[in-house]
Amino acid sequence: MRKTILFLFAGLLFASNLIAQQPKKYNATEIFEAIQKLNFLGSALYIAAHPDDENTRLISYLSNDLKARTAYLSLTRGDGGQNLIGPELRELLGVLRSEELLAARRIDGGEQFFSRANDFGYSKHPDETLAIWNKEAVLSDVVWTIRNFRPDIIINRFDHRSPGTTHGHHTSSAMLSFEAYDLAANPDKFSDQLNYTAPWQPKRLFFNTSWWFYGSQENFEKADKTNLLEFEIGNYYPLRGVSNNEIAALSRSQHRSQGFGSMGSRGSQTEYLEFLKGDMPKDKTNLFEGINTTWSRVKNGEAIGKILGKIEENFNFKDPSSHLPHLLNAYGHINKIEDDYWRALKLKEIKQIITACAGLYLEAVANDVSANPGDQITLSIEAINRSDSAIILKSISTNLNNSQQGLNTPLNNNEKQDIELEVVLPDTLSYTAPYWLTKKAELGMYMVKDQNLIGKPETPRALSVTFNLVFDNSITLPIVKDVIYKYSDPAKGEVYQPFEILPPVATAFENKVNIFSDAQPKDISLKVRAVKDNITGIISLDLPEGWEVHPAVINFNIKNKGEEKAVTFNVTPPSNENVATIKPLVRINGDAYSGALTEIAYDHIPTQTVLMPSEAKVVRLNIEKAGENIGYIVGAGDAVPESLQQIGYNVMTIAPEDINAENLKRFDAVVVGIRAYNIVDELKFKQSFLLEYVKQGGTVIVQYNTTWRGGDFPVKNLAPYELKLSRDRVTDENSEVSIIAKNHSLINFPNKITQNDFNGWVQERGLYFPNQWGAEFSPILSMNDKGESAKKGSLLVAPYGKGYYIYTGLSFFRELPAGVPGAYKLFTNMLSIGKKQVKTDDKKIKG
Ligand SMILES: [Zn+2]
Repeated sequence: MRKTILFLFAGLLFASNLIAQQPKKYNATEIFEAIQKLNFLGSALYIAAHPDDENTRLISYLSNDLKARTAYLSLTRGDGGQNLIGPELRELLGVLRSEELLAARRIDGGEQFFSRANDFGYSKHPDETLAIWNKEAVLSDVVWTIRNFRPDIIINRFDHRSPGTTHGHHTSSAMLSFEAYDLAANPDKFSDQLNYTAPWQPKRLFFNTSWWFYGSQENFEKADKTNLLEFEIGNYYPLRGVSNNEIAALSRSQHRSQGFGSMGSRGSQTEYLEFLKGDMPKDKTNLFEGINTTWSRVKNGEAIGKILGKIEENFNFKDPSSHLPHLLNAYGHINKIEDDYWRALKLKEIKQIITACAGLYLEAVANDVSANPGDQITLSIEAINRSDSAIILKSISTNLNNSQQGLNTPLNNNEKQDIELEVVLPDTLSYTAPYWLTKKAELGMYMVKDQNLIGKPETPRALSVTFNLVFDNSITLPIVKDVIYKYSDPAKGEVYQPFEILPPVATAFENKVNIFSDAQPKDISLKVRAVKDNITGIISLDLPEGWEVHPAVINFNIKNKGEEKAVTFNVTPPSNENVATIKPLVRINGDAYSGALTEIAYDHIPTQTVLMPSEAKVVRLNIEKAGENIGYIVGAGDAVPESLQQIGYNVMTIAPEDINAENLKRFDAVVVGIRAYNIVDELKFKQSFLLEYVKQGGTVIVQYNTTWRGGDFPVKNLAPYELKLSRDRVTDENSEVSIIAKNHSLINFPNKITQNDFNGWVQERGLYFPNQWGAEFSPILSMNDKGESAKKGSLLVAPYGKGYYIYTGLSFFRELPAGVPGAYKLFTNMLSIGKKQVKTDDKKIKG
């Protein structure tokens, strides 16, 4: 089923996404719109907490209808979420979702920023969020973004006055924005930033409200709207043949890892902004009213506005190059603007317009997708002018050395120039890596030392080429292009990839978590990947005390770049329970390497190669188990089956079509994966087989499913008795757990569960606990977040016929892959329950 979903997603957006990875090529309409934007000097910053929080309708409206410079500041990269399209979680999911936001912005025309805040998981209240984030640091990042972006208008997605009604990250984003609005203008606050930027006072702050925040449409209709701006955002753009909402839906659909594919809609739609601070516009349909958004806001800018206004009025869609003389004139004026912010911003815009009008295509392609520091590489450079404009390619230089290659080549209309450039990469060049992942993060924050990197969506590319062009023998335009790599794929055609600087070797553990369920030694395998031809070296494992490894070192030799070799170490665990981290160390000619490379490749984003420290967890457990054969019905995807295999279970995944009495009989227990009923439609026809299997003596364990998408739960007979799912969750992974059914088999057989088994959990305790159940169920545990009532629905078990039905919202899908010993013991007890009678003195405790 998961494969089917993958395929559908891949099919839907295939065509548009491949184009998204290629360099942008402007058509006449896009050039015209870029000129309109060049001639509009207003900006808006949208602020929320996660990738996918943003209102793409409003972002698209600001950018495409009003032509404002528009950006979305997402405080986090969404690392704590789940992934519907692949295996990336945590940091890697953060990289994927950062790229999905960039893909969304390429469609709706916005820019993208982030703070250093880490999406550590769900929190119910901003107090909890701001205790885990470093509040001052995140506030500093919001101020930094405001000072650099200089928005006239800030729009919060969430209400800063309603803590506890939504995710704590959401309310926190609004509270920090509310505070930063004033602090950004105060030179005494975060004054270190002023070495690189200047104070800035935005003019207005809004909250992007809607009926949803009022509880119902009815309440909203009745509400006092004197403080609300109200404007139409469903406009149709005839030049493009689409409505604003259609663009917004395409943009939103880039959040593919979150399953946010959405349909474009047409027709009128109203957007509401509640005024919070600054000066309220008199015209309540115009959020820029009273703000000078013309060139007259810039010293000596009027002349530029006049030139651009004329071009707009008489735009030649058949031959945009006819505007080049005027655009070059405007370029000259912009080049002389005193204000650094406006000069840099508008130069960037007008350079794009001039190259687009001239049909200039400039590209620097590396001869391989990656290289190592110290390598010599060859760049294939293409330069072509497709207009009658007199352009000379004066010189080419790279950012790595100042030496220019003098050329003085005239670029005649439609005559392609191919140039080869040899570049020696410095030995000191940094590896390509997401800048926020190069240092070990804290729970709530990424560590970034370089102030100038903070806020950026990606690490700037290491290698770029500057094309120095001379127009009409007088005006010099330096155009900078990142070096890229491209190749022809038989199925997809031309594929572009970023060019990367990588270490010569990388390693990857076969298993990120290795469970030793007894004292027996185990093989631990790694793959060594060459990122350079002909590498010879040795590899060893760095293990903590008590763990032993054989052999101490392994020699390897790999001939070709891209080739991998597997090496295997035999590891003996200590006799007692122990959780530790192991690291590989590769030595080549005296240099040491310890990085792992992970490729994130999807059609809707440029391929990402993520370099992170290579490490794996080793866990020595003292675990007993009963039963052997486990059936697993896969839901939204999790690593529970692999985890169970690690402790010696024989796990088979069961396809929905194979669920029948005969097939289920062979299993000692059947486990239903997270959200299986939510995403695998077919299961509703198979539920009776599962319940019958329990009746005949089997054990079924159902992990968390949700109630919230689209009202009714898809399966009527989820459990043999009354069981009502709720949105109860316990988000603090350290919250106290009390065992309320002390004598129950789940707490005693075959492993004795104690308080200690709830130590070391990650991210949360669990979610979507039932809050109502039949008397047949025994609740086993009680837990709650600070200040909340006890929740007893995290683990419920009921005998049914000769077997057992278990429902659990505990986050085993997080705890098992993280190697949490107590979670393994508890899960093993669930799987083993049918192998021993439950004691008769177990009390039934009502929820
Ligand atoms: Zn969110």
